[in-house]
Amino acid sequence: MIEKTLVIIKPDAMQRSLVGEIIGRFEKVGLKLVGAKMVQVDKSLADKHYPKDREEFILGMANKTLDNYKEQDLDAKEQLGTDDPKEIGLMLQGWLVEFLTSSPVMVLVLEGPHAIEVVRKICGFTLPSKADPGTIRGDYSFDSSGYANTANRPIRNLVHASGNQEEAQLEVDLWFKPEELFDYETIHYKHMTQ
Ligand code: ADP
Repeated sequence: MIEKTLVIIKPDAMQRSLVGEIIGRFEKVGLKLVGAKMVQVDKSLADKHYPKDREEFILGMANKTLDNYKEQDLDAKEQLGTDDPKEIGLMLQGWLVEFLTSSPVMVLVLEGPHAIEVVRKICGFTLPSKADPGTIRGDYSFDSSGYANTANRPIRNLVHASGNQEEAQLEVDLWFKPEELFDYETIHYKHMTQ
């Protein structure tokens, strides 16, 4: 049940000086910070983080976008030049790589019971315009895909958080060496286990 998950505080959050606020939200819940560093990401690392060949990621992102366009009565073909999910996914991947490398980011590994799900809940839904208040994305942004894509850019939603156990394992291994992760006791564990 104790999981590790990766969070990236993206360039928009860095530039808006929201690092302390974001880390504080995870700390308040009791998640343990076991890794943290500031990184100027290069294209090769960004491409590994947003892999072009992981269909689940590319198509998942594209289908979420197409659903959102349909809901808002927007024409994906008109706005993006295509309504083919693979082409949309690859275009978004390109924008994401460019954005992630545009200024330094903070990368965290958080640990705790159900950490992957709990962190996703604290971050909120991908599209800030639909994310609940009380979540990081819902409280600090109103961005949407329609709005972002008219400017040919990815949604600025402040944080990345691993989506599932497989992704968390891959991402923690991609961003951190074993010696960069720490083990210590927090008071939360004592409260939970006594
Ligand atoms: P999440 O980050 O919530 O796991 P996804 O994996 O679906 O979401 O997408 C990865 C990232 O791609 C999002 O966090 C967001 O920054 C960006 N993104 C997703 N969909 C769109 C879109 N339609 N337009 C622009 N950027 C998008």
